[in-house]
Amino acid sequence: MRPMTQTSPVAEIQRRGLMLVLSSPSGAGKSTIAHNLLESDPRFSLSVSVTTRQRRGSEIEGRHYHFISVDEFEARRASDQLLEWAEVHGNFYGTPRKAAEAAMREGRDMLFDIDWQGARQLQEQARSDIVSIFILPPSMAELKNRLLRRNEDSGETIQMRLKNARVEIERWRDYDYVVVNYDLNQAFSEVQSIVEAERLRRDRRPGLFDFTAALLAEELD
Ligand code: ADP
Ligand code: 5GP
Repeated sequence: MRPMTQTSPVAEIQRRGLMLVLSSPSGAGKSTIAHNLLESDPRFSLSVSVTTRQRRGSEIEGRHYHFISVDEFEARRASDQLLEWAEVHGNFYGTPRKAAEAAMREGRDMLFDIDWQGARQLQEQARSDIVSIFILPPSMAELKNRLLRRNEDSGETIQMRLKNARVEIERWRDYDYVVVNYDLNQAFSEVQSIVEAERLRRDRRPGLFDFTAALLAEELD
């Protein structure tokens, strides 16, 4: 029997990566929360989607999205390169299959900033690996203010996103958690708490089989 002299810290026990899905109506603060999480937690990498939408001034190709043409999108979709895809606000968006599958194989955590249609497709494919969080704005008036303050979209685009927001908000029950983003620090801290607890779930820690076997095999003097 293998004597155990020291208990392993939780982080060292072999674990399975989680797929964290963040969705929200446009302007509720999901990208800001996703950005903070990626900055503060090196265990997460972002699933960089492909999109046919126009690049915003502040966005960088390959970091925020891979900006591609509709023809290219259709070719990728037809050749099964997308894990999920959807049409959102008149543009196509999709999750590249290769990067997401590699992350899961290697036990790395991955963050998906996708809408409810994509969340549903991922849940159908990998329910036990997914943790989903829906971010809500404190009010529709504040949602509008945030879209205006972000100052990245035309008036027409903002009107369309506000109209679509009501349809998106109705999907709140499809998610494991709901966070209302009144105050950014508070909302971010709630998301961090969810992630910490989900990482500790028994079924995400296959290394517990070996750990408990060794614990039970340990002989005391
Ligand atoms: P989304 O990704 O959901 O479309 P963003 O993260 O781009 O939204 O946020 C929209 C705007 O609202 C940004 O200008 C962001 O800085 C701001 N914002 C995010 N959270 C808050 C908050 N709690 N209070 C005030 N402004 C916020
Ligand atoms: P935006 O144009 O504001 O970047 O994103 C618009 C919406 O598309 C957001 O709700 C965002 O989460 C969603 N989205 C971004 N990438 C994907 C994706 O790969 N798949 C799906 N289904 N939705 C996405």
